[in-house]
Amino acid sequence: MKIGLEVHVALPTKTKLFCSDLAYENQEEPNSNVCPVCLGLPGAKPVLNKKALEISVSISKALNCEITEKTWFVRKVYFYPDLPKGYQITQLDGAVGIKGYVDLNGKRIRIRRVQIEEDPARIIHEKDYSLIDFNRSGVPLNEIVTEPDITSLEELKNFIEELRSILYYQGVNINQELKTDLNISLAENRVEIKNVTGVRNLIAAAEYEIKRQTALINEGKKINKETRSYKEDSNETVSSREKETEEEYGFTFEPDLTFYDTTKLEIQKAIIASVVAKELAYKNEYREKTIRELILFNKKNLLLLTSLSKEEFKKGVSLIEKFASFGIEDYSEEDFKKMIKQDISSIEKGEFLRLLGKTSKYEEKADEKEIEKGIIEMLSQDKNLLKRGITDGKAMSFMIGKVKEKYHVTGKEAADIIKKVIKSMLNN
Ligand SMILES: [Zn+2]
Repeated sequence: MKIGLEVHVALPTKTKLFCSDLAYENQEEPNSNVCPVCLGLPGAKPVLNKKALEISVSISKALNCEITEKTWFVRKVYFYPDLPKGYQITQLDGAVGIKGYVDLNGKRIRIRRVQIEEDPARIIHEKDYSLIDFNRSGVPLNEIVTEPDITSLEELKNFIEELRSILYYQGVNINQELKTDLNISLAENRVEIKNVTGVRNLIAAAEYEIKRQTALINEGKKINKETRSYKEDSNETVSSREKETEEEYGFTFEPDLTFYDTTKLEIQKAIIASVVAKELAYKNEYREKTIRELILFNKKNLLLLTSLSKEEFKKGVSLIEKFASFGIEDYSEEDFKKMIKQDISSIEKGEFLRLLGKTSKYEEKADEKEIEKGIIEMLSQDKNLLKRGITDGKAMSFMIGKVKEKYHVTGKEAADIIKKVIKSMLNN
């Protein structure tokens, strides 16, 4: 099995790729962040956003790419209303990064290239008409293209997690839905699945496609070389009529832009959290998996844990876990240093907050354990309530109201905890 990916990721810049419109802020009103450049009006000239170039070089380096010294752009010609100028400005042979790789535990996934390109406008299809919002037009993207080196679903998941972590440490917003094209071949013919949005859909699409191709092979049938799309509602891939493949697009040099020198950019060394986790685990003789979970998507945890001595390390991990379990997110390095000197092994939340010197913000709210205790008490006093709580909306609302009032939590938090307690009581 061979799986290759083209992952599109929006870059963390203030403004768009070729004009000075805001890329992400104040986007509520459609077509409010637009200008002749990102509307694609005739005669409008693009000017490259230097920040986008820097970030792209930085991402390319984090992905172990060779950096193209003089990077340049092409026009990818196609006709669709999301690109009224008739082409998308992107990169091909002059791509900013080439020949990189990502190392997963003992397996190397090669990166073919990292290219800079502009996002097209957003089209909203209604029943009898379509609307276009150009706010998104010109948002800077990186397209990260892998070689077809991924050979299992497990590896696909690991690769995406690793890639997201690397991107997170490059300042990329990892809450964005990654847009991915993936190609999967179980036999000689390659099937491409276009425009899959989000990681969950990506995994689901791959899973479905592997099953589909496996079934065809088992029946002795041929797998067609084709482009398919993933339907989220029915969780399947379906053949799309789109015939255009990369080779069929027209590409021409982008004459409005020049060659950009990447050799003088100052790029900091990339943080690869999975590598740091390995080093920390080795140095401190601690479980790598726990460290990974704490630092893959959390810069603060990474900085705190790397600052600890071997003697402090184990306590540092439990301290981070304590902050999390008490719902304290905005603690500082000083808070951490203060608390690591304390005995926190079996500390209650109130005492923890007192030592920390944190005020009312957290104290008003009881912690989950306390609320659970309260609910168990309430239910054991009124056995009827336990039975009715599951099916009777009124009994449930009554309990939610009580918990909300007593513990200063929201209705949703109250409902979640109540359901959890009832479930565990019924299981016992
Ligand atoms: Zn613009």
